[in-house]
Amino acid sequence: MKAIVNLKQRHAKMRAHTATHLLHAAIGKFFPHTKQAGSLVDEDYLRFDFTADALLTQAQLKELEELVNHRIALVLPVVTQVQSYEEAIAWWAKAFFEDKYDDDVRVVTIKDGVHAPISLELCGGTHVENTAHIGAMKIIEHGSVASWVKRIVAYTGPKVANHALMLQEKIYAIAAHLESKPAHIEQKIEKNKKEKKELSEELSRLQTGQITSLLATMSSSHDFFDVLVDVSKEQALQWFPFKTIVQKAKEYFADKKVCVYNKEGNFALLGVDAKSFAQQHSLKGGGSDTFVQWRDLQIIEVFW
Ligand SMILES: [Zn+2]
Repeated sequence: MKAIVNLKQRHAKMRAHTATHLLHAAIGKFFPHTKQAGSLVDEDYLRFDFTADALLTQAQLKELEELVNHRIALVLPVVTQVQSYEEAIAWWAKAFFEDKYDDDVRVVTIKDGVHAPISLELCGGTHVENTAHIGAMKIIEHGSVASWVKRIVAYTGPKVANHALMLQEKIYAIAAHLESKPAHIEQKIEKNKKEKKELSEELSRLQTGQITSLLATMSSSHDFFDVLVDVSKEQALQWFPFKTIVQKAKEYFADKKVCVYNKEGNFALLGVDAKSFAQQHSLKGGGSDTFVQWRDLQIIEVFW
C-alpha cells in the first residue's frame, strides 16, 4: 500500500498547527495559568480553546497577534526531540508535565536564542521546521465557549493575505455606498451623522410650526374642554404621529383643558380635572390628575 500525502494540504495544516504552539505560548503572557481546553487544526485554519476567566480586550488581542507575528518573523527553529519521560523531566521544568506519561515522549520546543524555550509542548503532530514558514497569523474570532473557556480562531499562511484582500474589498464597497473614498470613510460617516441630526432637528421644527398653526385654529363649544382636537377630521394633522400631536398640544395650550382624539379611539385629556372627567365618562386610561391618555372607543361616544 502506498500512502499519498497531499503536500499542499499537509503544509497548510503544519503552518496552522505550529502557529497554535506560538499562540498557546503567547496567551500565557495574559493568562499565566492558562491551559489548553481544545484545539482544531485545518488548512491554514486553527481554533484554540483555553482556560481563562475573562475575554481578551481589543488591545490585548492586538498585542497577542503582534507577539505571535513577531516570533514568526524571527525564523525560530522548531525542534522535536524524542525522549523518555524521565529524561524529559530532567531536561525541562517539571511544570510542563502535569500528566503522567509512561513511554517515550515527543518534546516540541520553539526557542528564542539562548533563552528558555518560548514554547514547549509534548506533541505528536507535524510542524514546520522554523516559524517563518508559518508566514503570518491573523486572529479572526475571539469569544467565550463556557464561562471559563475562551476561544481564538485564526488563519495562517496565504489565508492571511486572502483575508486582508476580502476586508479591503469590503472597505471599497462601503466607500462606494457612502460615495466616498476608503481613506475618508470615518469622516464621511461623521458628516452623515451630523447631517442626519440637523435634518431631524429641522423636521421637528417644521412639524412644531405646522402642528401649532393648525392647533391655533381650533376651539370648542364643549362645556368642559376649551379645545377639542378631532384628528380624524383634520386632514393636515393626520400626517403626524398621534403622540407628536399630543405633545405639541401640551406645549401650545399650556394650562387649557384640551382633548385630542381620533376615530381609532386614541385620546389624550389635558388640563385640570382631566382624570375626574375620564372617571365620570367611564374612560379607561392612565396618567395623572391633569393628563390622561389611552385607547378607548368610548371617547367617540363622549363627543357624539
Ligand atoms: Zn505540535
